[in-house]
Amino acid sequence: MPIVNCSLLLCGKKIIFSLNQMKEFSEEANLLHTPYNKPDAYNALSMPVYHSAAYEFASAEEMEDAFCGRSPEHVYSRITNPTVQYFEDRVKTITGAFSVTALNSGMAAITNTFMNIARTGGNIVTSAHLFGNTYSFLLYTLADFGVEARFCDLTNPDEVRAHIDENTCALFLEIITNPQMEVAGLKQLAGIAHAHAIPLIADTTIVPFTVFKAKEFGVDIELVSSTKYISGGATGLGGLIIDYATFDWGNSSLLPRFSGSFDKAAFTVRLRKEIHRNMGAYMTPQAAYMQTLGLETLTLRFEKQAATCLELAKRLSCVSEISSVNYTGLEENPFYTISKEQFGAYPGAMLTFDLASREACFAFLNNLKLIRRATNLFDNKSLAIHPASTIYGTFTEQQREAMDVKPTTIRLSVGLEPVEDLYNDILQAL
Ligand SMILES: *Cc1c(COP(=O)(O)O)cnc(C)c1O
Repeated sequence: MPIVNCSLLLCGKKIIFSLNQMKEFSEEANLLHTPYNKPDAYNALSMPVYHSAAYEFASAEEMEDAFCGRSPEHVYSRITNPTVQYFEDRVKTITGAFSVTALNSGMAAITNTFMNIARTGGNIVTSAHLFGNTYSFLLYTLADFGVEARFCDLTNPDEVRAHIDENTCALFLEIITNPQMEVAGLKQLAGIAHAHAIPLIADTTIVPFTVFKAKEFGVDIELVSSTKYISGGATGLGGLIIDYATFDWGNSSLLPRFSGSFDKAAFTVRLRKEIHRNMGAYMTPQAAYMQTLGLETLTLRFEKQAATCLELAKRLSCVSEISSVNYTGLEENPFYTISKEQFGAYPGAMLTFDLASREACFAFLNNLKLIRRATNLFDNKSLAIHPASTIYGTFTEQQREAMDVKPTTIRLSVGLEPVEDLYNDILQAL
């Protein structure tokens, strides 16, 4: 089968080798010092931005080898690019994943993943508590290709089992849903998925992989909108597909043309050899450069932003104009225990709170002086939004109800400002 003649697997081995050499240092140190695949021509200490669509070859023979996947050379930047590959390698260093694919947006990571595994007549078991565009993609776009989205309560294992059948392609969830802030038990869901020979796919955007180790909780494929924490300064969009090669596609009927010699690599082989090139949504080198810089300060930024978020959640719980604060790091939150087990003491830097009415929410937003009225999450600047009228604004009232998106909810993404400033801005705006 020529399709499994995969240079990617060779690249994977090379990187695992260099990782082993660096075992004596911490993950954070290794991240910063991830080696280049090849020495840079000018010994550049910072990975250059290779703004080139195509790459030249010394001979027709070398060209043939590269195009047929027998050598790992770059051929065209829709498929691979040195700057983007370096960003992918850094993510591989932190996650220990088998493969990382960087796309142009979080949605591109999500759509490429489902195009890779779903087929007509198949279904995806998930929850209605999803990011708006993911919900729309599953509900409308995939439906036109004959793929059914089955929404259920993922915190109820019996309900999950009842929704899975022989045509199920994956169990999919967001690790902390937004704005509902629901947390399902990942180990339990992984057990259910694997017992039915389907992969567990998780959108982990809300807690970065420096903190949340998806593989340890049975996640086979991790999807990230790197627009959020990783980019940091909100410098651009990006998405990541992180494959741990933990799912044995040979035991399932999901990727029949690709399992066989590479059972655990089948997802990556099809993604990189077919879907990703055909869909054409690879990350651009400029975005990869910016996000590589973002990765260098990710741990520092997250520690500060998440600690501020917890402190703010505690303080806002005592403010009389606020009827409830939703952050799973608060001890009184119904998901506190499972959240702590999976994400530690600081489950992200986003919280929601409820005011008396939609009008109160609009007045609050209009009174803010420091916190910006904007979508996006985990910018260095704090951002506030009214999800029901914006991200979920084009859904019907009934759909918003089904998704538990309430007209009284404000979402706050906590940035790097001192907690006192944020607290004061919220108080004066109320
Ligand atoms: C933002 C977001 C996405 C989509 O990512 P983009 O980079 O905007 O395409 C998907 N899932 C979650 C949880 C998000 O927050």
